[in-house]
Amino acid sequence: MMSYTELSKAELSALYEKLNSEYKEYCGKNLKLDMSRGKPSPEQLDICMEMLDIKDVYAENGMDTRNYGLLEGIPEARKLMGDLLGMKMENTIIGGNSSLNMMFDAVALGFTHGVYGAKLPWSKQEKIKFLCPVPGYDRHFRITEFFGFEMITIPMDENGPDMNKVEELVNNDPAVKGIWCVPKYSNPSGITYSDEVVKRFAALKPAADDFRIFWDNAYAIHFLDRNDDDKLLNIYDECVKNGTEDMVYIFASTSKISFAGAGVAAMGASKGNLDLLSKQEGVKTIGSDKINQLRHVKYYKDYEGLLSCMEKHAKIMKPKFDMVLKTLDEELSGTGTGTWNSVKGGYFIALDTMEGCAKRTLELCKSAGVVMTPAGATYPYGNDFKDSTIRIAPSYPSPAELEVAAKLLCLCVKIAAVEKLLNK
Ligand code: PLP
Repeated sequence: MMSYTELSKAELSALYEKLNSEYKEYCGKNLKLDMSRGKPSPEQLDICMEMLDIKDVYAENGMDTRNYGLLEGIPEARKLMGDLLGMKMENTIIGGNSSLNMMFDAVALGFTHGVYGAKLPWSKQEKIKFLCPVPGYDRHFRITEFFGFEMITIPMDENGPDMNKVEELVNNDPAVKGIWCVPKYSNPSGITYSDEVVKRFAALKPAADDFRIFWDNAYAIHFLDRNDDDKLLNIYDECVKNGTEDMVYIFASTSKISFAGAGVAAMGASKGNLDLLSKQEGVKTIGSDKINQLRHVKYYKDYEGLLSCMEKHAKIMKPKFDMVLKTLDEELSGTGTGTWNSVKGGYFIALDTMEGCAKRTLELCKSAGVVMTPAGATYPYGNDFKDSTIRIAPSYPSPAELEVAAKLLCLCVKIAAVEKLLNK
């Protein structure tokens, strides 16, 4: 296939006619497909249904989980979730069902009261900035936008965020208070941070006394093939070696292991950080759902139990990812209209169209009945300055639906590119 940029005007015009007539056929099909959010499919939600039959209510220490108490969670849940986070039980606290909620609270408390060891809350400081590796998770950016941080984009490559830029900003600018990271199978590009990147994070010497790395390991065990799982270095261990362990908050949940709306979320951090955060959380709640924590522990038993559950998810997810990647390859390779990563896990594929073509591509998709995450959503303030990144979420549609949706997406990428080249 010849790159579209090498085609003559006449060839492009002929191509435009051909692509448009294909597009019209799709429009006549009354499609209603959704590749917009990274939701598990109903089939995935069925995997752990037996968990709901578990009726035990007594924790290992004899505690009745139906009653109030144990703000940090039951010990066996802290152990299980600690293993997922790569943290000791003592350095792990359990939240409700949502890790995003724990991240919001951690930002909110830093804002109103100041993080552990800080002289001032973030809200009392004149200028506060947050680093946002892009493309990234829209809901992270919404939190820091909500609190009025100035968000600074950091480019990412296949090894993670550009660490020269991160070091320069964090180590020199005291207004930089934090950074969002999805270090494994990142949302949406699917990359895993290299060992060097993790080590450089742990060795940061922030100019601010209240800087925190928000290490959202949402896809810690979300491989597509257990035998080909990316390895992520344990940031907390690296921080301990550098004496920087107060600098990192680590998050994970079972949202995409058990139930997206009824899982268990956890946070790992140093003792100083957790003591302060628990004290503050204790104002908000007497404790979260311990019955659900116990159910999760009884069902999975241990870390291996979580991994074997993820093998069942992978069986459902891998054919879907393969389908999308194969379609991208067949339809776009060599055309110069798009680039993407071949990912080994997580929930997304990031497709970069020609500059200035993402919005138009998604407009075309929408008119033909395929809903995608809005263009720009993976950038702070929804502003993708190159108008190029499209987030593909293959998990929810069935493989048959996905085949149609992926083909249509590729067609729209090509039409938008030809329109650009023809200045239409
Ligand atoms: N973090 C990332 C990177 C995600 O992609 C998602 C969901 O898509 C979440 C957090 C949400 O996690 P939770 O359900 O635990 O709030």
